[in-house]
Amino acid sequence: MNFEIDATEQAIVDAAERVCREVLAANAQRYDETESFCAESLKALGELGFMGINLPEQYGGFGIGSLAMSAVVEAVSAACASTASALTAHFLATDSILIGGTEAQRQEWLPRCASGELLGAFGLTEPAAGSNPADMRTRAVRENDGWRIRGSKHYITNAREADFIVLYAKTDPEAGARGISAFMIPRGTEGVTFSNPEKTMGLRGSTIYELALDCWLPASALLGQENHGFRTAMEVLDRGRVEVAAMSLGIARAAMEYALKWVDERQIGPKPLSAYQGTQWRIADMHAQFEAARLLTMKAAARRDSGQRFSLESATAKLFAAEACGFITDAALQLHGGYGYIRDLPLERFVRDARILRIFEGTSEVQKIIISRAVLEAARQ
Ligand SMILES: Cc1cc2nc3c(=O)[nH]c(=O)nc-3n(C[C@H](O)[C@H](O)[C@H](O)COP(=O)(O)OP(=O)(O)OC[C@H]3O[C@@H](n4cnc5c(N)ncnc54)[C@H](O)[C@@H]3O)c2cc1C
Repeated sequence: MNFEIDATEQAIVDAAERVCREVLAANAQRYDETESFCAESLKALGELGFMGINLPEQYGGFGIGSLAMSAVVEAVSAACASTASALTAHFLATDSILIGGTEAQRQEWLPRCASGELLGAFGLTEPAAGSNPADMRTRAVRENDGWRIRGSKHYITNAREADFIVLYAKTDPEAGARGISAFMIPRGTEGVTFSNPEKTMGLRGSTIYELALDCWLPASALLGQENHGFRTAMEVLDRGRVEVAAMSLGIARAAMEYALKWVDERQIGPKPLSAYQGTQWRIADMHAQFEAARLLTMKAAARRDSGQRFSLESATAKLFAAEACGFITDAALQLHGGYGYIRDLPLERFVRDARILRIFEGTSEVQKIIISRAVLEAARQ
């Protein structure tokens, strides 16, 4: 498997690292403390074209491979995980158009999404349908040459800030997962109302909302083909899980950097903390977890670019990297002792931000279901 990126991609990753260091990292603590949406950081990424790094050149993207894209997401997340969450939610929306939309819809929406002019949201989860989205109750019914959408969604990232929401709804309730379609809901659509932003544990610079829907959409709002929505959503989530794995690497990397510096600086008795074998073993465990997570993420990214199915690889990378990030951020905080618990340092923010990685885009338990199903199926052949 080839994990190399070319010189053009490396230049793009370097540019991302630069803007992350200079702009995103400077905003991260303020967003967290004031619980304010990461608008300036998204704008800075948009101005450099990073809102379209998941898209081919013909739709305004950079046309880079998934390895380079993962490296960019890692850089964004290392600087500000909230911004990475808002950015990757936008990718879920634009991937939905790329995978499920007609050519005319791709042309209409994607170039403006890539340029940063439009921000997207991805509306799948409902109060009664999280781990099993096929149980969704939001209905789309034909009405006056268009569609009447009735129902609710919750925990939708970017929903109120977004210029459009890709919303999944049941068009054929008898058909289960085969009766779901996707719709484009532009900002300002009458009959779409939002809750206040939810008060979250981490990612406080990214927002999630509950939506109540009783709205009419024209026929053209149907994204691609009727009843093909579930397949689209599952393919989109396969791609998204590689990005969550890359987000995990970013937060873990930032926590590791603090820990490595600190253990040399902190004197405990006659010697620095790094001179104790207990510390060295902890550092070795953190490193091994990080390297394994990065290799699994790279493998999933390479497989994604190969054109083969990559559900197994993306679920494995997401499961392992999210769990590793939890371990690494906790270990980094522990190495700081009481200082790690004080909000002057971002260690406690890293722990809070990392927690969601084991929940969204499919919990760790859901990844295990996907992995075991694929592994058992392969073994039976
Ligand atoms: C910050 C944040 C951002 C989000 N952003 C978005 C977004 O932009 N768009 C969107 O559509 N959704 C979004 N979500 C929703 C997220 O994807 C769901 O919360 C997640 O998929 C889990 O669904 P749930 O909350 O309904 O949990 P549930 O499905 O109720 O799960 C509860 C528990 O049951 C476990 N469980 C479920 N099934 C099984 C099983 N078969 N066997 C064993 N255990 C099981 C789960 O692992 C979990 O531990 C977001 C959520 C959060 C918190």
